[in-house]
Amino acid sequence: MNDRWIDLHTHSTASDGTLTPSELVRYAADKRLRAIALTDHDGVDGLDEAIAEGGRLGIEVIPGVELSADHPAGAMHILGFFVNRQRTNFLDRLRHLQQARNERNPRIVQKLRALGLKITYEEVRAASGGGLVGRPHFAKVLVQKGYVSSMQEAFERYLKKGAPGYVEKFRFGPQETIGMIHEAGGAAVLAHPFTLFKEDSDDLEPLVKELSTAGLDGLEVIYSTYSHEQSRLYRELAEKYELLPSGGSDFHGAHKPGIDLGFGQGQLRVPFEWVEPLRRKARGYGVA
Ligand code: AMP
Ligand code: ZN
Ligand code: FE
Ligand code: FE
Repeated sequence: MNDRWIDLHTHSTASDGTLTPSELVRYAADKRLRAIALTDHDGVDGLDEAIAEGGRLGIEVIPGVELSADHPAGAMHILGFFVNRQRTNFLDRLRHLQQARNERNPRIVQKLRALGLKITYEEVRAASGGGLVGRPHFAKVLVQKGYVSSMQEAFERYLKKGAPGYVEKFRFGPQETIGMIHEAGGAAVLAHPFTLFKEDSDDLEPLVKELSTAGLDGLEVIYSTYSHEQSRLYRELAEKYELLPSGGSDFHGAHKPGIDLGFGQGQLRVPFEWVEPLRRKARGYGVA
C-alpha cells in the first residue's frame, strides 16, 4: 500500500504545467496518491475539472492556488489551500494578478525580439495551450526554435530575474496575499523559502516570524529539491512559530524534467496526516 502519500504542490495546463487538470488527477491515481492539491499560479480555472476527476477516481483534490508576493527581501510564493473559488473578492484579486501577467508578457516578447530572437506572442500563447501564460511557455518556445537547448538554459540566459528578457510584474505584498487567501477561506503556506535565500541563511527566521505575525498558517517543509539541512531547518522554524507542515513536488510535467508527481526526484514522501490540520485551519477562516 502506498496510498498514504499525497502531493500538496502541483501545476496543470491552467497555468504552466503540461498535464490537463484531469490528466494530472489520473496520473495521481496511477501513482496511488491519496490526495493532491492543485496549486496553479494566479488562477483557479483548473479546479472544477480536477475535483470532478478526483470524485470519479476516489482521490481527494484540494482546491489550491500559488501566488507571488513582493517583499523587500525578494519575491516569495505563497500557497493557498482549501480556497473557495466562488468568493468574489478573491476572484477580483486573481483577475488583477492575471491582468498584470497579460501586461508583462508582451513586454517579454519585445525584449526578446530586441535581442534578435524571432518569437511572437501568438507562439507563446499557443505553447500555453489556452491557460494562463507564464515564463515556462516562453522557455518552451525558445527551446523549440533552437535558441537554447533546455528550459533551464532559457531561464539562465533570458528569463530569470536579472537576465535580459526579464520584466517585473505587479504583486501584492505578503500581508495582502495572506489576507486574500484567508478571505477565500483558505490556509496560507509559504512555499520553497530557499528561492528567497539561496543559502540556509539567518535572514529566514525574521522573515518567517514576520509572516507568522501577518497570519501565515504553514511552511512547505518538504519539497522536491530540498537538502536534508533545508528540510530540517524549515521543520524547526515551523515548530518554533507554530506553523503547519506542508509538502509537495511542484510538479509541472514536462516543464520540470526530473520532478515526478508525489515523489519529486524520487525521495519525496508527504503523509496524508498533514491534510486534516490544514483543512481545520482553513475552516477557521470560514468556508472550507
Ligand atoms: P511566471 O509566474 O510567469 O513569472 O513564471 C514563474 C515560473 O517559472 C515558476 O513557477 C517556475 O515554474 C518557473 N521558473 C522560474 N524561475 C526558473 C528557473 N530559474 N528555472 C526554471 N524554471 C523557473
Ligand atoms: Zn510554475
Ligand atoms: Fe513556486
Ligand atoms: Fe509551484
